Amino acid sequence: MKIGIPRSLLFFYYYPFWEELFQELRIEVLISDKNNERIMNKGVKYSISEICVPMKVYVGQVLDLVEQGADLVYVPRIVNIRKGVTLCPKFLGLPDMIKYSLEGMENKVLTHKIEQKSDDISDWKDYQIFLEVFDVSKKELKSALNKASQKWQEYRAMHRKGFASDQLLEDIKRTPDTGDLTIGVLGYVYNVYDKFVNMDLLGKLREMNVNIVTFEMIDDEEIQQEVDQFAPRKKMFWEFSNKLLGAGYHFLKSDEIDGVIHVTAFGCGPDSILGPFLDIDSDKYNTPFMTLRIDEQTGESHLLTRVEAFVDLLRLQKTKEARKCEK
Ligand code: SF4
Repeated sequence: MKIGIPRSLLFFYYYPFWEELFQELRIEVLISDKNNERIMNKGVKYSISEICVPMKVYVGQVLDLVEQGADLVYVPRIVNIRKGVTLCPKFLGLPDMIKYSLEGMENKVLTHKIEQKSDDISDWKDYQIFLEVFDVSKKELKSALNKASQKWQEYRAMHRKGFASDQLLEDIKRTPDTGDLTIGVLGYVYNVYDKFVNMDLLGKLREMNVNIVTFEMIDDEEIQQEVDQFAPRKKMFWEFSNKLLGAGYHFLKSDEIDGVIHVTAFGCGPDSILGPFLDIDSDKYNTPFMTLRIDEQTGESHLLTRVEAFVDLLRLQKTKEARKCEK
């Protein structure tokens, strides 16, 4: 049996877990191609127009996997990875959207609920459907989940050493940061690491000799501290929006971050709350903040011009500050 995993949404956060889990269960895994024009067009064609671009990409990736010959596409319903906080509602309805809005997908989706107490999604109680679908024993399943958990913890440990997910998942050269500027790139993993949709923002920043920090590199405790401090102003309900909120305030307050770029998808409800708070407060912390809104029609030259201008301004500001200190 071949299981398809779409290369989008939480792929960039959980792929090492899923890869290890299926490998341990001796299930062949197919990953969809990296996002490209063909996949994007398919996603746009078969999605409702109002939905955010990451969901359109996901639809395109699912269709790509079926074309590649996947017997089932793995679409877990990730409800929560912390008590009392859910993921964005679009994630909650994702398996239904795939099953019932795409022709022929009703019996091609492997789904189950994930309701766990932490980001480590290895508690076996949510995976009992695997016993039947893959005809494995409880012992085999528990052992595979343990190994998947270990693999994922190693992946997360590498984030905390300063590696971005694209450097870990793809064959991108991992060298120590030597740039003269450091930018906090704030965004959901599927917006930050989808090179097609964001016109390879990270690659462009690296070419400009900029060091990159993303939310995965920040300790969970530091993120939570910021979320707790923010809670009296507004309680956010969505797991990854909270992570971005905490990381965003951490970036704004940090002396090591020269500026913040918030990468957000057009039509994203959670970001329409999160972004303005950070944008307004960036003045208070004197940290330049830029919003990059992406959709399926974003033009490369428009994006590049804005990013180049932002980087130039940060360099200018840094030089001025250095001169002031010398006087
Ligand atoms: S958080 Fe925003 S971008 Fe992500 S799935 Fe929800 S609406 Fe779309």
